Amino acid sequence: MLSKFFLCVLASAAGTFGSTLPKRAQFEASSYSSKNVIQTDFAIIGGGAAGTYAAIALKDQNKTFTLVETTNRLGGHTRTFRDPSTGAVVDFGVQIHLDAPIVRNFFSRLNTALSQVQLTDFGLPKYFDFTQRVALPNYVRGNVGPDYIAQLNKYSYLDDLNNLPAQVPSDLLLNFPDFAKKVGLSENSTEGGLNWPATPGDPLKTTALAILNDGNHVETAEFQGAGVHAANRDNSQIFRNALAEIQADVLLQSSIVAANRGPTPKSGVQLIANTPTGKKLICAKQLIIAFPYTPDQTNSFGLDSKEKSILSKISGKYFYGGVVNNTNLQAGVAYTNAGANTSFHAASLPGVVEIAPSVSPGYYFYWYNTVSPLTRPQIESATRDTIKFLQSQIAATTTASEPNFVDFQDFSPFHLGPGNSDIADGWYNKMKGLQGYRNTWYISSLFVVAATQVWNNTANMLPSIVGAANLH
Ligand SMILES: Cc1cc2nc3c(=O)[nH]c(=O)nc-3n(C[C@H](O)[C@H](O)[C@H](O)COP(=O)(O)OP(=O)(O)OC[C@H]3O[C@@H](n4cnc5c(N)ncnc54)[C@H](O)[C@@H]3O)c2cc1C
Repeated sequence: MLSKFFLCVLASAAGTFGSTLPKRAQFEASSYSSKNVIQTDFAIIGGGAAGTYAAIALKDQNKTFTLVETTNRLGGHTRTFRDPSTGAVVDFGVQIHLDAPIVRNFFSRLNTALSQVQLTDFGLPKYFDFTQRVALPNYVRGNVGPDYIAQLNKYSYLDDLNNLPAQVPSDLLLNFPDFAKKVGLSENSTEGGLNWPATPGDPLKTTALAILNDGNHVETAEFQGAGVHAANRDNSQIFRNALAEIQADVLLQSSIVAANRGPTPKSGVQLIANTPTGKKLICAKQLIIAFPYTPDQTNSFGLDSKEKSILSKISGKYFYGGVVNNTNLQAGVAYTNAGANTSFHAASLPGVVEIAPSVSPGYYFYWYNTVSPLTRPQIESATRDTIKFLQSQIAATTTASEPNFVDFQDFSPFHLGPGNSDIADGWYNKMKGLQGYRNTWYISSLFVVAATQVWNNTANMLPSIVGAANLH
């Protein structure tokens, strides 16, 4: 019995650091029945791309872990609508990965075949101003060109903000249109940069740093023919297969409500998780944060003043998506929102970004962008109005029908980061300096955006994380 509770026994000793007695008692194994005490090498919080990758990689290194996830599934922003009765499958979150060894290996490890993305997979665009309710038949959106790539090459550290220099060039903190004007970007490249898909917030007020970090070398390569997705068009299959394999070590519909994180590798971390089967004490050597760590989410992790001063600066943006059928829209068309009279034809907010066809005939996915939070009924109502407008635009070839909304996801908080003055003040280096502090590591999309990069970043960090656990 003693060996079973070894980490938690140490935990009680470590808990004497700055803890009052009642608080300490909640981290003691003796306060729980043995089935509610988990001793493990790593606690992973969040089961999206980052957390799931870490879990499988640690398992393959014969390490133990417990993964805590608030929802009832793994995958996070990878979200697939599936209707077994019709066979319909619609990826309406993450859609494209880079054709790179890390992606091929991870999909192969999880028994999921890949295929090349075709340009027509998500429909061919037709442009409308969804706010002003007008068609833009003569408009074609610009794509980024060699001058945009030249800026990516010049600031290549923007692919991964782990490498951001202490002195951030002030040009990068200009809003992208001002940056584009200053460096002489073409109209096409400026429009292309402002309109990366699945980008939250007002693009006209987004910094060059954020645009180039999002639309980086990985994203541009994916859109130039090096993109892959699950061959069966169900990108969530890797996460379902992962869950089937590791479910004994996953706590779904669970969250951390209190934490005691010691100052040295020897002290480890003790976490209390609320789970569907009651409170559990998790005693781990190291804690891996793999979820959007915004201030409203961090209360339970017992931050000290140093952590608070850095982590309190993070905020995210709002972004939503869903799946709809019975639209009577034209097959193969990606109905895309563009401003009739706005700078660089940026779509007005709030609004539907696009309503695009999926691999399953009749099923469309849509994305919704707004600068302030909205509810599912508000978004579905606005999307319904947009579809009705589109039906009216193609009345000669279609009849009006009532859209049927079959799935929805709130992707917020999305594109996490601090404000401009904090970036100028070296925030990314300070955040990097928190890695490993109090046995805690941050691996989700904070420094990088795309899943391919999240996996690379996690793979790069795991040796340090495992090394810290070995010091326990
Ligand atoms: C609509 C959309 C489309 C995208 N398309 C692409 C694409 O095509 N290609 C690409 O590479 N990237 C795409 N991305 C970017 C995507 O965010 C990243 O690729 C990647 O999936 C992020 O992984 P993550 O693990 O950091 O975060 P997430 O995927 O957000 O996972 C975080 C997980 O943590 C869980 N969680 C949250 N709070 C807690 C808590 N308190 N306790 C426990 N668990 C918690 C969440 O439920 C979630 O499962 C897209 C994003 C969106 C929103």
